[in-house]
Amino acid sequence: MIRLGYLEKNTFLEAVNKKSGANVLNCYQCGKCVSTCPVSSYMDYPPRVIMQMIKLGMKEEALKANSMWFCLTCSACSGRCPREIDIPAVMEAIRHIAIEENYVNKTKKVKEIRTFHNIFLDMVKRYGRNYELRMMAEFNIRTRNLFKDMHLAPKALLKGKITIGHEHVKRGKAIRKMYAMADKLEKSQKG
Ligand code: SF4
Ligand code: SF4
Repeated sequence: MIRLGYLEKNTFLEAVNKKSGANVLNCYQCGKCVSTCPVSSYMDYPPRVIMQMIKLGMKEEALKANSMWFCLTCSACSGRCPREIDIPAVMEAIRHIAIEENYVNKTKKVKEIRTFHNIFLDMVKRYGRNYELRMMAEFNIRTRNLFKDMHLAPKALLKGKITIGHEHVKRGKAIRKMYAMADKLEKSQKG
């Protein structure tokens, strides 16, 4: 359903602006973000269209799209946006809202991306840093694709891109404390 943010109350626009710290209404649809984005061709809707959907209050359509899950948070788009909109922050805000309100895109690719995010965060929580070999193995197990990219492992090992063992960082305790604080904050925000 379309609601013009500037004509009547658009709670979706308000929520995205609040979460991202951006003002999506500033977007004047020039399309520079689309021509800069390295992954826009994989998205259901490129960043420019996502901006317009938010302005029009098309909550369900925007939140069910795969666009924000493909976003790499590279900031190439915001660097060229003439309205200086923090587009990756907007993408992140709609990722959060989609999870909170259970609108997440159910395609295989998005499920894999979410699995990858979760494993990465888990690695940092456990070891204070990413542990590439274990991440690859866990990802393959959880996505039931045991031999995915395995042919690259020997070469990556020889070149030192990945290592067999892993080192704990010195201030791992501080990182786990940070995670606990983030969990607490998230729970308090949910009320
Ligand atoms: S570059 Fe900025 S103003 Fe242009 S379409 Fe993208 S978000 Fe809107
Ligand atoms: S931050 Fe996201 S939307 Fe912007 S250019 Fe990078 S991948 Fe595309």
